[in-house]
Amino acid sequence: MNSNFQKWFLHPDGKSEKTYRLLMDEIMTLICEQTKKAKKPFSGTSCLEIEEKVKEALHIPIAGQEVAKVMAEIQDVIVGDSLWISHPSAMAHLHCPPLLPSIAAETMIGALNQSMDSWDQSPSATYVEEALVKFFARKIGYSHEADGVFTSGGTQSNYMGLLLARNKACETYFKVNAHQKGLPYEANKLRILCSEHAHFTVQQSAAQLGLGANAVVTVSTDDQQKLFIDDARDKLKKLRREGLIPFMIVATAGTTDFGSIDSISETARLAKDEGLWLHVDAAYGGALLFSHQYRSLLDGLHLADSITIDFHKLYYQSISCGAFFVKNNQNFHRIAYHADYLNPEEDQEKGMIHLVEKSVQTTRRFDALKLWMTFKLLGTDLLGQMIDYTIDLAKETASLMKKDPCFEVPVYPEMNAILFRYLPSRTEDRKYVDEMNRKMQQALYENGEFIIAKTRQDGKVYLKCTMLNPLNTIDHMKKHIERMKRLGEKIEKEQGEKRHEYSIHYEPHYDAKLN
Ligand SMILES: *Cc1c(COP(=O)(O)O)cnc(C)c1O
Repeated sequence: MNSNFQKWFLHPDGKSEKTYRLLMDEIMTLICEQTKKAKKPFSGTSCLEIEEKVKEALHIPIAGQEVAKVMAEIQDVIVGDSLWISHPSAMAHLHCPPLLPSIAAETMIGALNQSMDSWDQSPSATYVEEALVKFFARKIGYSHEADGVFTSGGTQSNYMGLLLARNKACETYFKVNAHQKGLPYEANKLRILCSEHAHFTVQQSAAQLGLGANAVVTVSTDDQQKLFIDDARDKLKKLRREGLIPFMIVATAGTTDFGSIDSISETARLAKDEGLWLHVDAAYGGALLFSHQYRSLLDGLHLADSITIDFHKLYYQSISCGAFFVKNNQNFHRIAYHADYLNPEEDQEKGMIHLVEKSVQTTRRFDALKLWMTFKLLGTDLLGQMIDYTIDLAKETASLMKKDPCFEVPVYPEMNAILFRYLPSRTEDRKYVDEMNRKMQQALYENGEFIIAKTRQDGKVYLKCTMLNPLNTIDHMKKHIERMKRLGEKIEKEQGEKRHEYSIHYEPHYDAKLN
């Protein structure tokens, strides 16, 4: 074998330093250039073109190629057509611009390559994660009995909440250790409550955990889009009358579409009265823990049996980064495995910590480092200010749109997501309004200057701005509002001429260059 491979590892004799520096340098140059070049969040290239380009470039060589050649290809094929999420006009989803400490820590995470499953693979990293978990537990208001673990995100955290609650319910109601014995037949009676705006992963987790998606009963929401407690009480009564066993309620702190925050204190009271496990999905709203103005929206969070918080949303961390917390650490025993090669039980007596016992993953990334580095470099005060700024900006933007007859804003935002729809000339024609909004979102995406999402509520099409980026300003937003109005007018004008031809199927490509 030739010795070329030596420079591709972090070599103990320093033989790879040059290559390592070269690669890192190339990457930094590429990203810096893209940062300056990206005048809009998306190139507007069509999906077919991108697919073609990527397919063409996917020739895997037998012999390695020059760094410069590969980097140029990556720039051309990948970076140029990436959604540039750091652009302030990218606001489709709960998808954040990453902070520099997080980006930098990612290269360290890759280089250290610690595996968080057993202590011997992550000697210091284990304690970093544990320390951050404890820090958050205190911030939440939990006692020393609380615990938690980093996860890949809200999906995994919600899954863990349902898993622990399900296993506890099987013990409580059926005297069955579901972890060992599997689900008893009567488990098909178990029911979970959440609002109609809760994240789909509640149903997904119930399905994966053998309860079935139908085990999730949705509760209606009030005019603020929050879980309606009276309806929850009624639903609980009805379920019990039918001989079913409600065992869990999920409150959402920051719903995906509205950013609405269920009343955690009221839900906690209900959960206590009814003997339910309370899980709070704060994937989005968990960042309010550091808010200076809006922390009170999370009042009662310490009463939750388990909590989901995502750091790759409003904590501005690179994907993936999230955590799951439990009020009582005993609950983790319901899912712990002891593998002889990894975390034998005798290690416990020696006081050794193996985080695999708390996780549904085995090999796991040292994501805690990103958050650690972020807190150290920015401090919690600035983080809180950033979050508050984006929320205030969303509220101000929503006020502008509310005043404008061209828009309908059904709910004043509680966090930094605005749901709205454009109102064209014929507002009484429901299908027409839906179609217009669909076309506007599509045209904006194809133009690439303003990236927003579309969604459905009550069967109607809405548009959504998720305004996570603190680099955004009210002047930017005013321009976007104007841009949308001009685009709406333009589409209507074009349609006026063509409507009879395309009355059913109408899919033109708009040249939405409006500057
Ligand atoms: C994003 C989100 C999830 C899913 O989290 P992932 O990190 O995407 O796995 C769950 N619940 C809520 C409320 C969310 O906003």
